[in-house]
Amino acid sequence: MTATKTTDIDATVALVELMQKSGADVVRIAVDSKKDAAALAEIRQQTTANLSVDLQENYRLAEIVAPHVDKIRYNPGHLYHHETDKPWQEKVRFIAGVAADNDCAVRVGVNCGSMDPAKKDRYDADDSISPMLESALEHCEFLDSIDFTRYCVSLKDSDPAKVVEVNTRFADQRPDIPLHLGVTEAGMPPEGIIKTRIAFEQLIGKGIGDTVRVSLTLPNARKGEEIVAGASIVEDIYAGRVRSVVNFNTNALNIISCPSCSRVENEAFVDLAQQVKEMTQYAKDHAITIAVMGCRVNGPGETDDADLGLWCGPKVVNLKKGTESLGAFPYDEILPRLKSELDKLIVN
Ligand code: SF4
Repeated sequence: MTATKTTDIDATVALVELMQKSGADVVRIAVDSKKDAAALAEIRQQTTANLSVDLQENYRLAEIVAPHVDKIRYNPGHLYHHETDKPWQEKVRFIAGVAADNDCAVRVGVNCGSMDPAKKDRYDADDSISPMLESALEHCEFLDSIDFTRYCVSLKDSDPAKVVEVNTRFADQRPDIPLHLGVTEAGMPPEGIIKTRIAFEQLIGKGIGDTVRVSLTLPNARKGEEIVAGASIVEDIYAGRVRSVVNFNTNALNIISCPSCSRVENEAFVDLAQQVKEMTQYAKDHAITIAVMGCRVNGPGETDDADLGLWCGPKVVNLKKGTESLGAFPYDEILPRLKSELDKLIVN
């Protein structure tokens, strides 16, 4: 996925080309506004790569972008934000209709950090798998009912064990639906690659999964490493170079960070994620999760399950302890604040 501003056409085309050269078969671009959609039309003219578009709340943009892309991704958890009186089925019918008219495939992208609250409320707070599964199955059933068949599903979490469980349960119930695999917010290399490898080995090893993405927090110039890592993991699995069942550092510090995309609000995000990793090394033997996210779109929700969360705005970084907000701090003040909260958690 590109992490440049989509309206920066030259930079986005350069990144698409870098990913294609690194071996990517499909490159995803985020589109949140009509300006992004207009830029996408120009980007389409400048590259032969297969393009996928990531729609967030504004599902109606599908109509503008579909002529320029090969695939549309929507997140069921984002469909309830706008036009709240309109049932989600009507919105999905619209997206599927636009996709069919423009010869596009669709991905139903379910993400642990942005679930429909109504779905979450139906299950125990510690069961994050069932709402994801229910949401994916429900959308498949609806797409089937309107005879839209060119779709795949993804079920992503930052915890590789949950990625394995939710995808295994989905594949048991709907083995006919192609699955796109990924560990979201896997973090920086090498840990992000290891987390992804753990999930992919256990899924692809059982024949589950059709396409993959490795999400790493990297500066744009190194984004090709995501594709190289993915290809290497898949190659190793097919060659039998795999480990047996592994638990990922369940008793150690776990830093999760988003791979960044065009929504990143301050380019200092990637450096900040690296600094958080370095600064927190002294706590490496504590079972604490720290999440670092690049924007307000997914940052607030996707930090809820972490012990400490940071999500970046243009000028400040928002600090959270679980779901509780601890305030917003300038970039040059956030590390000592984080350290102070981390110290309190260690003492407790
Ligand atoms: S948290 Fe925001 S910046 Fe990071 S990948 Fe998700 S949408 Fe993009």
